[in-house]
Amino acid sequence: MTGPLFDSHMHTPLCGHATGSPREYAQAALDAGLTGICFTDHTPMPAWYDAPWRMRLDQLTQYVEDVRAVQAEFSGRLDVRLGLEADFHPGTERYLEGVLGAHAWDYVIGSIHYIGAWGLDNPEFIAEYDNRDLAGVYRDYYALVEGAAKSGLFDSIGHLDLPKKFGHRDPDGYAALHALDVIAERGLSLDFNTAGWRKPVAEAYPAPDLTRQAAERGIPFVLGSDAHKPGEVGHRFTDAIKQIHDVGGRIVTYQGRMRHG
Ligand code: ZN
Ligand code: FE
Ligand code: FE
Ligand code: ZN
Repeated sequence: MTGPLFDSHMHTPLCGHATGSPREYAQAALDAGLTGICFTDHTPMPAWYDAPWRMRLDQLTQYVEDVRAVQAEFSGRLDVRLGLEADFHPGTERYLEGVLGAHAWDYVIGSIHYIGAWGLDNPEFIAEYDNRDLAGVYRDYYALVEGAAKSGLFDSIGHLDLPKKFGHRDPDGYAALHALDVIAERGLSLDFNTAGWRKPVAEAYPAPDLTRQAAERGIPFVLGSDAHKPGEVGHRFTDAIKQIHDVGGRIVTYQGRMRHG
């Protein structure tokens, strides 16, 4: 592989469900031959929203300090950036604006993890897929993706086709294509997320056909392992780069919320 190689999606123990210290993620990236990383831990959200799966607001400064310390320690060896994986959930935009304005972030991913009160990627709630019309799930999900793209809050959309995680594939695909039109129009990128290869669906987000559709619309990709432990940093990046380049896609990174590459 040539050119700079960044992993721009990884977590820290502050979210409560990741292991390994930030410096161990950075060391893993160096060992994997990466040029840089961007930490994107789960943002604080209002107290009623998904609290066990994210840092609290009073931990945000700690997060920034932890990443800055790793940045200093690895200076000259690894380009360490400061980002967030934020949730788009209607009604929480103003709260999120406060979080995004509080520090100088390099990169902000906008992810949809909930349709209403249902955590759609939580293994505990898989049974809900059987209670719903799957085409309807995807319509509702992609309407939220469009809302995220239109909100102006995010640089990229996280794990685009997430409802497929446990194997519930999109039965039609129309809503996804419409969402890609909006993402292209609004100038966002896509988180090319290799965690899907570690899940039951055994496919990265986005799927190969959606990768092609995104590339055709000029939407760039940001490589991310979505590592929740150091050993996952850079996971299957050779395969990811191949999937993107096979369809003429472009890989970018973000610094100071500006797209590079
Ligand atoms: Zn997580
Ligand atoms: Fe996520
Ligand atoms: Fe993540
Ligand atoms: Zn994620």
